[in-house]
This record gives sequence, C-alpha cells and structure tokens, in this order.
Amino acid sequence: MRVAVARESREGETRVAMVPELVAKLTALGHEVVVEPGAGAGALHPDEAYVAAGAVVADDPYSDAGLVVSVQPLARDLARRLASGTVTVSFLPTAAELDLVRDYRDLGVTALAMELVPRISRAQSMDALSSQSLVSGYRCAVVCAGLLRRFLPLNMTAAGTVPPAEVVVLGAGVAGLQAIATARRLGAVVKAYDVRAAAAEEIRSMGAQAIELDLPTLEGAGGYAREMTEERAALQRELLAPYVAAADGLITTAAVPGRTAPVLVTRGMVEAMSPGSVVVDLAADSGGNVEGSVAGEVVRIGQAQVWGGRNVPAQMPEPASRLYAQNVLSLVTLLTADGGDGALALDLADEIVAGACVTHDGVVRHEPTARLLE
Ligand code: NAD
Repeated sequence: MRVAVARESREGETRVAMVPELVAKLTALGHEVVVEPGAGAGALHPDEAYVAAGAVVADDPYSDAGLVVSVQPLARDLARRLASGTVTVSFLPTAAELDLVRDYRDLGVTALAMELVPRISRAQSMDALSSQSLVSGYRCAVVCAGLLRRFLPLNMTAAGTVPPAEVVVLGAGVAGLQAIATARRLGAVVKAYDVRAAAAEEIRSMGAQAIELDLPTLEGAGGYAREMTEERAALQRELLAPYVAAADGLITTAAVPGRTAPVLVTRGMVEAMSPGSVVVDLAADSGGNVEGSVAGEVVRIGQAQVWGGRNVPAQMPEPASRLYAQNVLSLVTLLTADGGDGALALDLADEIVAGACVTHDGVVRHEPTARLLE
C-alpha cells in the first residue's frame, strides 16, 4: 500500500505526521512511503533524510495512495482528489470541519480521527492527545520560566539567599502534570488544582502540593472532568483567588472535552498578582481559562504578562512530530494485515478502529458528527 505523507497546509503548522526514523517500520509492514517535498522541513527533517530512510519524495504523493497521513486535516482541494476507498489519518475536529467530513463521505474516503482513538490501554501507543499534551505541558513550563524575570530554584549564595519562585498549575491532566514536573525540575515550588478526585494524588506524586478546596469533585464519564455550574465556577474562582495572587507564575491547562474551556481566572484575579508575574494559558486556543488571554499573543493584564497558547505542540515540532508519528505508526500497524505485503485490513469491529472512524464507505459513522450533519 502506498502511504502518502502530507506537507501540512495549515498556517503555523510545523509538525509532520511521519519522521524518517520510523519510515523503515512502515516499509517493513510492506508499505511504500511517499513524502510530499518539504513535508518534514518545519520539524527539521530534510527530504534527503526521508530518502535515506527508504522513502520516495514525489510532487504528487497522493495519486495511488491508499493511506494519507497528516497532522492537521487535509485541505479540501486536496481531499477532493482522493480516490474512493482511500484512508486518511489525521486530527479531525469534526464539528469545525463539517465540509471536509461531507466531502469524505461523498467521496467514499475512510477518515480516521486521531483524537477519537479510544483511551483504552491497548490504544495507549496511539494516543496522540496525550503525546501532544505532554509536549504542550513541557512548553508551558519553559515559557513561564523564560518570561519570569527571576530564579525558579532556591539559591543560597555567599551574597544571600534568593527564595524560589512559586508556580500554580490549574488543570492536572496530561499537560498539567507535565507542566508541574518541568517546573519542579527547574526548582520552582509548585501548587496545583484539578476538579477530578484522582488528580490530587497524581499532583503529589509529581512533587507538587495539591490545592484542596472545600468543593465537590467533578468527575464524569471516562474519568474526564464534567462541566461546572456557574455557581460552582464562581465559588472555585473565589477560593483559588489567594493562590493565584501569591503565585509568581500561573499555568492553566483545564479543558472539558467537546466544550469551550472553563474560565478559571478572571481579569480581577490576574490584576491582584504581583509586578512581574507571568500567566501561561494553554487553553487560549479553545476560549481560554484566563479572562483576557489572547491565543498567540502576550498581553498585559494589571502588572502580569499573559501568554496565550496557540497550537503549542507546533512550537516544539521535532519531539511533537516524533511522538505523533509513533502514534500514527501504531494505528497504521493495527490497520495493516499480517503477511508483510502492506494490504490494509480495516476491521470496523475493532473498538479502536470503530472509535476513530468518522466516515467509511459513504457513511458518517461517528454519531455526534452525523447528528451535526442532519
Ligand atoms: P483534558 O485536556 O481534557 O483536561 C485537562 C485537565 O483539566 C483535566 O485533568 C481536567 O480534569 C481539568 N479540568 C477541567 N475543568 C477544570 C476546572 N474547572 N478546574 C480545574 N481543572 C479542570 O485532560 P487530559 O489530559 O486529556 O486527561 C483527562 C483524563 O484522562 C485524566 O484523568 C487522564 O489521566 C486521563 N487519561 C487517560 C489515558 C488513558 O487511559 N490512556 C490517557 C490520557 C489521559
């Protein structure tokens, strides 16, 4: 089967869906890997590295491709050129991409969405949400450290002692825990809060102090956070205000799947922070956890600098691509029949394939998306 590796077309996307290091694993499955020129450039992988790894670089990798891999959804003009039966693997936020989903359905393309891969243990190696959140969490802590004009660790010197910086992390999922771990490694004193009951122990295991509020926990289906009532949200903000005011750095990573991000921190809470404070809002792209944050910009609120994240994994394209490519390789391995001839064996009875499948054989199989198209 010909596997086409797309050059990303969306503005600001620097990642690539396959890295040279993993090409040999695809060819060992019997696939022919064809890479669009320049596909890996943003992630520091020149065309020659793909060729050296056994891939072909071709201007049109899509003709005769049975499988197309990308990070972002394909551009519609490209998608429309795909033959019926082609399989695409990418992130595919369907609610924002209904026209593309319609195209895929009408063309008979099988579209698999990486963010819909079920988070079961057998699919852990395909969990691109986690791998990219890991990169984002690290990046948030490093951005926070870079913007702060002070030491993170305690420094005891002959000239005196400089106390450590205090970093507060709100939301302790994959990104938040990685932000905590990174800030701790840099020596900051870290406190963190999450609405899920299980999070407190995870926060402590990273060497941070778990902020415990006198509020009920909010755990929903699959261990994810549930949306809060406005009354609870207001109370949570009130209880968190003193922690935010005392922080030198604040990192927010809270999300509720399928919803805009909850506002955890008001403008007034940021205004109460000390001069030189830094706020890093990873959720700025999806509405923002911090009132007034702007995705892709650093704005000033009160005396704090507020950094709004925009496509944060793309800011570290080399590791983000490496991890994403491993996720893609694991999924493609699942889709490939045994025998080493690269034939696809799409088993829609498999929980992982069924979960990730948005369109197949002219039908929108992902029910929430199908309802949006009705
Ligand atoms: P996410 O990106 O959806 O959300 C980030 C965090 O924000 C979550 O921990 C959530 O509880 C928290 N949050 C939401 N609303 C909040 C609020 N109002 N105040 C404070 N915090 C708030 O989360 P994620 O990183 O995708 O992880 C979510 C869950 O999935 C976690 O329990 C994680 O351990 C679990 N998980 C499981 C697997 C697996 O089993 N393979 C893989 C990854 C994550």
